[in-house]
Amino acid sequence: LVDRLQLAADLRRALEGTGGTGGAGGTGGTGGAEGTGELVLYYQPTIELRSGTVTGFEALVRWNHPVRGMISPADFIPLAESTGLIRPLGQWVLAEACRQGVEWGAGDPDRVLTMAVNVSGRQFDQTDLPAIVAGVLADTGLPPERLCLEMTESVLMTDTEENLAVLLSLKAIGVRLAIDDFGTGYSSLAYLRRFPVDTLKIDRSFVERIGGATPDAALARTIVQLGQSLGMATVAEGIEQYAQFLALRRMGCDLAQGYYFSRPLPADEAGALLRDPAAL
Ligand code: C2E
Ligand code: CA
Ligand code: CA
Repeated sequence: LVDRLQLAADLRRALEGTGGTGGAGGTGGTGGAEGTGELVLYYQPTIELRSGTVTGFEALVRWNHPVRGMISPADFIPLAESTGLIRPLGQWVLAEACRQGVEWGAGDPDRVLTMAVNVSGRQFDQTDLPAIVAGVLADTGLPPERLCLEMTESVLMTDTEENLAVLLSLKAIGVRLAIDDFGTGYSSLAYLRRFPVDTLKIDRSFVERIGGATPDAALARTIVQLGQSLGMATVAEGIEQYAQFLALRRMGCDLAQGYYFSRPLPADEAGALLRDPAAL
């Protein structure tokens, strides 16, 4: 418990280093935090399976703790959620990812580059989430359709009416919405008809065993077909091997991410990848 309290205090302090805890929504002060703060964003490219081109990035937060070293988001996001720090953290991630997206040319209408940002279920408890998103888009100049917000199925299954209202407001702004880890939650296909979802991200667990004698390939294929029938794009997560890449492309899956193409990269390396796609 003491350890958790200490870590929460450290996280609060790290957020102060980004200028993000005020909740004032001003993104002007966050740009300078790049590289100097403990919290940094890494970017994993999204590849179009048909053409092999980079169509965007997913922003993934990292915490370089002064004493403990790198802490995985899997370890500190739950802490941020239970302490309420996820709100300033989420707002900082959003602003920083959008700023970076614009720097990479995502504001250019001729360049197809999408920035995906993970949004915790706790952030949907904020009825002002659409206002925060609209504010960040206005401040950074990122066109709304270039931003994709990723949420897990739990967002669609809990506090349904409130969350539906938030999602509809986000959709009205023009941002894209993706379901992360699709197929692993309390899946009820009924919500797909109610919620304005653009993209299904096929969970890594289905991709992992796609070549073996398991039902996973059939499930992955079914999710791709479900997406196609509903007019949603499909993204395969966690492609590590050539055989997985081929299998998913054959199934008609649109996009993919995974170590096979690239690990999440610091901003400068991700930018270099964008300038020289042959490096992929
Ligand atoms: P996620 O959104 O499902 O992100 C994908 C995770 O899989 C990332 O882990 C990524 O590094 C990892 N990954 C990507 N390709 C491969 C692969 O080929 N093989 C394997 N084994 N792993 C792969 P990461 O960065 O540690 O993030 C873990 C989770 O933490 C994320 O899962 C997401 O739920 C959460 N997270 C990360 N950044 C944020 C954030 O800014 N906000 C919120 N709310 N959650 C975040
Ligand atoms: Ca994600
Ligand atoms: Ca995922």
